[in-house]
Amino acid sequence: MQYKQAATAHIDLDALQFNLGKIKQQAPNSKIMAVVKANGYGHGLRDIAQNANVDAFGVARIEEALQLRACGIVKPILLLEGFYSPVDLPVLTTNNIQTVVHCVEQLDALEQAELEQPVSVWLKIDSGMHRLGVRPEHYSDFVRRLKACPNVVKPLRYISHFACADELDNTMTTEQISRFRQLTDDEQGERSMAASAGLLAWPESQFDWVRPGIIMYGVSPFVEKNAADMGYRPVMTLKSHLIAVSDVKAGESIGYGTIWKSERDTRIGVIAIGYGDGYPRTAPSGTPVVVNGRTVPIAGRVSMDMLTVDLGPNAQDKVGDEAILWGEQLPVEVVASHIGTLGYELVTKLTARVAMSYHYKAGQ
Ligand SMILES: *Cc1c(COP(=O)(O)O)cnc(C)c1O
Repeated sequence: MQYKQAATAHIDLDALQFNLGKIKQQAPNSKIMAVVKANGYGHGLRDIAQNANVDAFGVARIEEALQLRACGIVKPILLLEGFYSPVDLPVLTTNNIQTVVHCVEQLDALEQAELEQPVSVWLKIDSGMHRLGVRPEHYSDFVRRLKACPNVVKPLRYISHFACADELDNTMTTEQISRFRQLTDDEQGERSMAASAGLLAWPESQFDWVRPGIIMYGVSPFVEKNAADMGYRPVMTLKSHLIAVSDVKAGESIGYGTIWKSERDTRIGVIAIGYGDGYPRTAPSGTPVVVNGRTVPIAGRVSMDMLTVDLGPNAQDKVGDEAILWGEQLPVEVVASHIGTLGYELVTKLTARVAMSYHYKAGQ
């Protein structure tokens, strides 16, 4: 038997560049802040950032920003939720990291800090999502204090986030845009509202900066529409291979809990991937997997290191043959809909046991 890597995430860096090109076409007048939080949505923070030709990066945690700096990224980096503690402020200035300000605690900390350099600040406005941000009635107070604060770079920038941009007929998005514009139309500083769904579906939300995360990775932000149908290419293809193929008889059950019984004589394939790799245990029987170009259903419960598929009677698949869990040939959105989740969660939740394999044709 030849050596075989078990669960491997193949990362297609050409697809990443292709997707960024499409984003630029769809938002031609905006700068791009590529969102690489959560280890680049599971794709690998460093490799994604080093291969993304964009204007800036967005992250959720200061540790992620510092990792980017440590691997040589010199472009602007924004902490999308801002800093969590006043002790972070000198770290921001030393490492040239921009911050969101969404609450009065952050504002107080900025006013009280003694910093050698001022910090670049994006004022987060709650335009209706009611998760983070300054409510419209507190807006002018925040702007006044931030503009007066010597620790803050001028002009201020302005940012907000949509609650329902993935719902194409929801009027919430236009209401959020008009609230944001009412507050900021007369300001000098740059503005940003759109993540993936906004930039794709609501061109009027693009403003100076778009903040694509999921679509950059070739996964759709919409429930009803796959990224492939919108012309994007999946960056991640999750693969493993068959480690056993065996015959079962009609009426026999497979795996833990005997939750799946074969209705016919068939062949069952065992694939070396499970919830220990981040493939969800909640994936029900029937969830698709691609083996040798055919879509076959999961049969029985996903276990920690393995899952089982019904290859069909007389299947010719052999031990060692490749299985694709999602990506090329099988959109992660389709898999996610069987599991009752989103592509976002599947790609982001892979565990450290999955080998990462980076592929880049164009540069060679
Ligand atoms: C995660 C995030 C994004 C990117 O969202 P996608 O839907 O993945 O494009 C953009 N902006 C903020 C504030 C975020 O937290």
